[in-house]
Amino acid sequence: MASSTLADSTKGFDMRTSIAGPLAGTEAGAVAAKALRACVHCGMCNATCPTYQLTGDELEGPRGRIYLMKQALEGVRPTRLTLDHLDSCLSCRACETTCPSGVEYHRLLDVGRAAVAEAVPRPWTERLFREGLRRLTISPRLFSVLLALGRTVRPILPRTLQSRIPPRIEAGPKPTGRHSRTMLMLEGCVQSAAAAHFNRSTARVFDRIGIRLLEAPKAACCGAVSFHLDAAAAARAQARANLDAWMPLIDQGAEALIVNSSGCAAFIKDYPDLFRDDPDYLPLARRVAALTRDPVEVVETADLSLARNPAAPRIAVHEPCTLQHGLKLSGRIASLLSRLGYEPQPVADNHLCCGSAGAYAILHTETANTLKANKLAALNASGPAAIYTANIGCWMHMVDSDAAPVRHWMEAVEAVLSDPP
Ligand code: SF4
Ligand code: SF4
Repeated sequence: MASSTLADSTKGFDMRTSIAGPLAGTEAGAVAAKALRACVHCGMCNATCPTYQLTGDELEGPRGRIYLMKQALEGVRPTRLTLDHLDSCLSCRACETTCPSGVEYHRLLDVGRAAVAEAVPRPWTERLFREGLRRLTISPRLFSVLLALGRTVRPILPRTLQSRIPPRIEAGPKPTGRHSRTMLMLEGCVQSAAAAHFNRSTARVFDRIGIRLLEAPKAACCGAVSFHLDAAAAARAQARANLDAWMPLIDQGAEALIVNSSGCAAFIKDYPDLFRDDPDYLPLARRVAALTRDPVEVVETADLSLARNPAAPRIAVHEPCTLQHGLKLSGRIASLLSRLGYEPQPVADNHLCCGSAGAYAILHTETANTLKANKLAALNASGPAAIYTANIGCWMHMVDSDAAPVRHWMEAVEAVLSDPP
């Protein structure tokens, strides 16, 4: 369908909806119908949608995508073009933050994209690539081997490939403090292989504030990558394994689950959606979701009155979409770092995605690179000494920046706690 045709046809958008086909009468169908009925088709969300901003195409914005999903879920056969428009969505949720009607776009997208992907089979080559990418990403061992190989040959690779290989950064020692307060920490899949220093730095900061972070050895990938690559069953299996690994430690007194990568935290917060049809795991999913915390939610409550960076460096805080639109923690990291003596600078278009978006940067290179260039320009505009982010995917996407270095924000906290004035 041509964009102009859709833009015209959506002027008389009908808010009534009736889910047809296999989703009729199901919980997933009800979730989609709720979002479809809430949308008043005002189009305000288009103004903050990165893909709409880049293309000006109605079908590359949330309102057009909602329309496409409505059609598909009501029984109109979707086409490859429908799937392409849904695939090109970054799942950044900027549209949700903007929407005055409270449309839970990401819940609709989860249902709608799965239904369309089911109805429009991908060619085997595409399926193979996506499955290979998924398996590589979720296996820290496999990822580590390939990363080591990539780092070895990095100097002779073209610049575009070099930028995909993050540098090796020393993780430093594990903290040894024994504290009565304990919390769990998700080590993650890619993160544990590519940026182990994020986790070590987090563990040392928590140690300094009197909390021991526990690792559940059998917990691994949160499942987000699988879920977004058409492998919902695999995502559920990964989430079940995590819940099984965490529950005994929660029962023994772990107060929270600390997830220092906001993409993983936002996905775990949505575990109840993943298990909406599973009465055995739904209560566990709800319990863990309620205990999931970004580190800022804990560190900002600690007594840090003696910690201060005397140099008062200018910094830029990169707020990942999952942090601001998913977890709704916008402003919290900058506020904490400001208390610690840093000087966070304003960042233009803070609401816009950097283009990382999980596997998106690999699958939609051109859009991802344009968004990355825009984001790095905005972050570097004030000449910061460093850029601090809160998500492994965003870090990997932007770490090759040739201006200010990109780091995890826990490193900024650790710097003042380790070396108080
Ligand atoms: S802003 Fe909300 S109600 Fe308006 S078109 Fe977008 S999703 Fe629908
Ligand atoms: S999730 Fe992001 S890319 Fe997708 S429609 Fe909403 S604003 Fe646009």
